[in-house]
Amino acid sequence: MYCDYHLHSSFSGDSEVPMEEMIQKGIQLGLPAMCFTEHLDPDFPEGDYSFDLDLPAYEKKLRELKEKYRDRIQIYFGMEMGLQPHLTKVIPEIASSASFDFLIGSTHVADHMDPYDRTFFEERSEYQAYHRYFEVLLENLKTFSCFDTCGHIDYVVRYGPNQNQDYTYEKYQDILDAILKTLIEKQIGLECNTAGFKYGLGHPNPTEKVLARYRELGGEILTLGSDAHAPEHIAYNFKETGELLKACGFRYYTIFKERKPEFLKL
Ligand SMILES: [Zn+2]
Ligand SMILES: [Zn+2]
Repeated sequence: MYCDYHLHSSFSGDSEVPMEEMIQKGIQLGLPAMCFTEHLDPDFPEGDYSFDLDLPAYEKKLRELKEKYRDRIQIYFGMEMGLQPHLTKVIPEIASSASFDFLIGSTHVADHMDPYDRTFFEERSEYQAYHRYFEVLLENLKTFSCFDTCGHIDYVVRYGPNQNQDYTYEKYQDILDAILKTLIEKQIGLECNTAGFKYGLGHPNPTEKVLARYRELGGEILTLGSDAHAPEHIAYNFKETGELLKACGFRYYTIFKERKPEFLKL
């Protein structure tokens, strides 16, 4: 079984599950390691959720449980930072505010809207909306370097009116290639996020074509995460995803300890 490097618990604004319950499920599934990556999204638009994080309380609980379960599973300390191009001061500050093992940089907000909130799709075509999201993500990648992997790069597709029905790599090739090349140039990883299966897309985020393209361009740092917010989604579809990644040309996936990459066999 693979390590799961994208996990949330009740320290994230959109999960109710105590961290210990997540860990117990991870042990039951036989995971060698789990890395919690609780949400912190500064300047998140007003709405149903807040993505503030009580970082000291989170770290304290994690270190306590890491110790308690050390003979059964390895627990790592991560965070999923919500990037926005104007947060040039606060994002690097957050990244260096604790001794993290692993940081995910995710784009959840474009033009002060989370595509999860469907107003993002009003008054523009699906193509325009998806393209705009990719533009903002690329701007984030050019602005920030203080994270280890880029989370779910086609996140926007989860929430589009027709989801991935009309979405192909070819349609967005120029901007997706620019994103992949920027990641490679900056030695930031690409995440394979299996929540795409949970959202009924039939594919991970990003899709196989994008993963294979990253490999073809020379991309090597590939992280793997379920983005679970509840125990039943931990390591979601990991077995099939391992096969799919091998078919995309990968022989290894990457985990991080104290922000340093380690390559493990798929
Ligand atoms: Zn996310
Ligand atoms: Zn997440």
